[in-house]
Amino acid sequence: MIDPRRSLPAVAQLARELAATSAAPEHLCVVVARDVLADARRRIAAGAVVVERATLIDEAQRALAALLSPGLQPVINASGVIIQTNLGRAPLSAAALRAMADIGGGYSNLEYDLDVGRRGARGGRLRDILQHLTGAEDALVVNNNAAAIYLVLGALAVGRAVIVSRGQAVEIGGGFRIPDVLRQSGARLVEVGTTNRTYARDYAAAIDDQTALLMRVHASNFRLVGFVHEPTLDELVAVAHARNIPLLDDLGSGTLLPTAPYGLPAEPTVGACIAAGADLVAFSGDKLLGGPQAGVIVGRAALIELVRQHPLMRALRVDKTTLAALEATLLTYVRGRAIEELPVWRMIAAPAAQLQQRAAAIAAAVGPPACVVASAGAVGGGALPGATLPGYAVALPGGTARAARLRRQTPPVIARIADGQLLLDLRSVLPEHDAALSEVLRSTE
Ligand SMILES: *Cc1c(COP(=O)(O)O)cnc(C)c1O
Repeated sequence: MIDPRRSLPAVAQLARELAATSAAPEHLCVVVARDVLADARRRIAAGAVVVERATLIDEAQRALAALLSPGLQPVINASGVIIQTNLGRAPLSAAALRAMADIGGGYSNLEYDLDVGRRGARGGRLRDILQHLTGAEDALVVNNNAAAIYLVLGALAVGRAVIVSRGQAVEIGGGFRIPDVLRQSGARLVEVGTTNRTYARDYAAAIDDQTALLMRVHASNFRLVGFVHEPTLDELVAVAHARNIPLLDDLGSGTLLPTAPYGLPAEPTVGACIAAGADLVAFSGDKLLGGPQAGVIVGRAALIELVRQHPLMRALRVDKTTLAALEATLLTYVRGRAIEELPVWRMIAAPAAQLQQRAAAIAAAVGPPACVVASAGAVGGGALPGATLPGYAVALPGGTARAARLRRQTPPVIARIADGQLLLDLRSVLPEHDAALSEVLRSTE
């Protein structure tokens, strides 16, 4: 019997055949051919009798296509959680996407003053817009909220103490732990109170001549219930200002709009925190704000200027496409169109009855056993932990196996499993994606 390895083509031969079916550069075809043949030799060594030529070409074409396609792909988020860190947080508005394309695809006055014809400040207009929207004296934008906190501590508290409630020295997610960030930035953490109860007087008692900041951290991914107490922002401001110490408020999500009109608990707005006297407020650009990944710091001009002068500002600054998207997102608020135009707010504000209609239309298109069930969605993304938004989902039998099949479609669909049923919750699906969702459900057994 002849060795089946002898029947395999040479690398150059397979590469030539692959190149004849593709516009990819020749060296890439050689790399792919080598990999595919090595794999075939392994299969033969493991007992395969013969590997067909057609199979080899097919495998090579697929390997080449995989190599040439991006890893990032759009997915349909039917989990019911609107702001999902794993799925890219806030989808951007049409205006933000246009701005990114306009500014990213050419040159811009990013750091150029068009009036005088020389170097200008990055993000100057953004400062004006944020001042207008939050009432703060000044504003600064960096890579994300984690960077914002790190930079503020590095600029204002190196070698000095930052007072935080023990109940707020927490992990935000993805390994972002407040005590670790404090340590890394060179500040010293002073924890006060207990895990469940901290009073304004606990902060007051801990202040000494080493105190640089009082810090409040928004409980963004957990909720303490029962025998709990936290001082109000007003109380904390009074304690801090009586001793001339600035108060840093890490709001996490940071909303510019009130959440209560949509049946959600009241999340403090950035403007309300500034009005209450917080000296610096930090929040994310891609959570409830509904914009690109960014960290926004607003507050007192003198403090913001110290942060702006920090040498690490250069390492943490944002690029032109982020600035463009953030500016466009914020201008949507200025125009009073956030609820209508920003995807995150459109999804939060969608009436349950509308979700029910859309679920019914999709269930009808898919056919039995698809049906419509009531389902509780959530905001997610470090906002309003535990709070739900009433809505509707398309339900299918099949649990984890069907969920896995849906994840392998184009576009992949991310579902939720509850009580052994597969739920496709429309709270986190934009209406313009209903047709694609329906199509994937129809074509997936
Ligand atoms: C989300 C969050 C952060 C981190 O923000 P990123 O923009 O993800 O860096 C920090 N603090 C709080 C309270 C948060 O909720």
